[in-house]
Amino acid sequence: MKRTHHCNELRPSHIGQIATLSGWVHSRRDLGGLIFIDVRDREGRTQTVFDPSDLPKELFERAEKLRSECVVSISGKVRQRPQGTNNPKIATGEVEILVQSLEVLNMADVLPFPVDDPEVASKVNEELRLKYRYLDLRRPEMARNLRLRSKVAIATRQYMDEQGFLEVETPVLFKSTPEGAREFLVPNRRDPGTFYALPQSPQQFKQILMVGGVERYFQIARCFRDEDQRADRQLEFTQVDIEMSFIEREDIYNLIEGLLKRVWKVATGQDIPTPFKRLRFEEALNRYGIDKPDTRFAMELVDFTEEFRASAFKVFSGAVANGGVVKALNAKGLAGATQGQIETMTEYAKSFGAKGLAYIKVENGEWKSPIVKFFNEAEKAALTTKLKIEEGDLILFAADQWLNACEILGKIRLYCAEVLREQGKLTLDPNRYDFLWVVDFPLMSFDKEQNRWYSSHHPFTAPVAEDVPLLKTEPKRVRGQHYDIVVNGVELGGGSIRIHQPDVQKTIFEDVLQISPEETKLRFGYMLEAFRYGAPPHGGIALGFDRMIAILCGTTSIRDVIAFPKTAKGVDMMTDSPAPVTARQLRDLYIEVKAAKKE
Ligand code: ASP
Repeated sequence: MKRTHHCNELRPSHIGQIATLSGWVHSRRDLGGLIFIDVRDREGRTQTVFDPSDLPKELFERAEKLRSECVVSISGKVRQRPQGTNNPKIATGEVEILVQSLEVLNMADVLPFPVDDPEVASKVNEELRLKYRYLDLRRPEMARNLRLRSKVAIATRQYMDEQGFLEVETPVLFKSTPEGAREFLVPNRRDPGTFYALPQSPQQFKQILMVGGVERYFQIARCFRDEDQRADRQLEFTQVDIEMSFIEREDIYNLIEGLLKRVWKVATGQDIPTPFKRLRFEEALNRYGIDKPDTRFAMELVDFTEEFRASAFKVFSGAVANGGVVKALNAKGLAGATQGQIETMTEYAKSFGAKGLAYIKVENGEWKSPIVKFFNEAEKAALTTKLKIEEGDLILFAADQWLNACEILGKIRLYCAEVLREQGKLTLDPNRYDFLWVVDFPLMSFDKEQNRWYSSHHPFTAPVAEDVPLLKTEPKRVRGQHYDIVVNGVELGGGSIRIHQPDVQKTIFEDVLQISPEETKLRFGYMLEAFRYGAPPHGGIALGFDRMIAILCGTTSIRDVIAFPKTAKGVDMMTDSPAPVTARQLRDLYIEVKAAKKE
């Protein structure tokens, strides 16, 4: 019995026809001597009716034995549903199939969790869903996510092809190069003690492809980073990876705006306006306290360094005297914040090394705060005007070194927005997408713990040309030709114009990053050499594909848009990986495991 239609196809126009459907038993109801079975496939579902009065007894008995998720083929006549029994919730809800034959293709055991009820399914423990991912993937929400992912991947390929890009695959067995994240190593059986590493990104290969004359490369590439997983990360993830020769930053902006316009149109039907806004890194931090600002709401940070330079409140004036700043934000309508909420915010401040959190609650016409008594009239007036203080507001301060003060309030700003959303005081349109480019990042950032500079993006990022002379003297002031694309407070991707002159690249490795010449030669020698044989100026970008799909699907978890994701602990629940290997396998690899066995 071969299917004639899919389960989301039959309409009143098919009434009278014989149809065969194949799929899963979505639900079975026994009512008034009849059996109703909803058959579901990838496309949707259709109701079928088994009437014992016109079916062989044996067939009806087989139907009685069917359980949820058995696989069946069912044939019969399409008919109008009896009056009053239409189901407006499904597209096939006006018709049903009066069954004539049933083939049971496979039985199903009792399920570990139901897949037919979205209410129930959404509450099922995620580890259980991941263990039985094949059942989870049958849920319409998951099927929709995978379908959207596929559509976006295809649209991306089409767009990139139209723009003259070649899709090139790069190796997964790569080499260990200290680029930032911890790497996964793969032992080499042929030469004990040597290892491949899985690529953190195809960064070096795509640059070499430019030296190889490819000019326009892209790949929907898998990347691997052995990092402790934060909420929205996976050990392996997918990027839309891009590199181009003979271009400037503007060319990348244009290309990506076009790509995102296409993708958003395909996925949501929406026309997103381009060009996107641009925000300098410094301005992003000054106004939003973060380099990936969510600009769908204001609550901007305001600077009060000058106003408090000579303040009697020593916490503020002292910070300024130390070269720091005083900043504040107004969380409108949050004066009623609970003790717990204030504590959470205080913890954020402390996690950045602040001693505490200064705040003012504006309630019953009064400024409630232990610090207000130190403020003079001019200081109060400045606060009132610049923060537009009104009844019901909550004012939060940070007095610290610039970056720290910005970041503290940046975190608090997002937290306050969350609380205001929960309270219904802030509503964000789910169809609103605030895209923006963050530009003019500093090339280097300083790691206080290790007392050394590291690349804000990666070591291949080109400095802004006029800042090159500062590299050895004042690395802090060197701007990088690096850009990030941000939407609704999520970093969708980033890239840069690259260094293509071997001497500049060497300076970055050795003088700025303090990688020894031997190490540089060992790790990056091939790249520096390649650059000596005619490397074109080039640049590129990578977009986080999983994250982009999650945004388009309206989910906060990238696990919902990856067919087989790992848990936060890096475990594949379904295959139970990672897992031990045999002593023989280890011997072949010349590997001895010294760690104590887990209980
Ligand atoms: N390779 C970079 C990354 O993975 C992106 C780029 O610079 O193109 O973040």
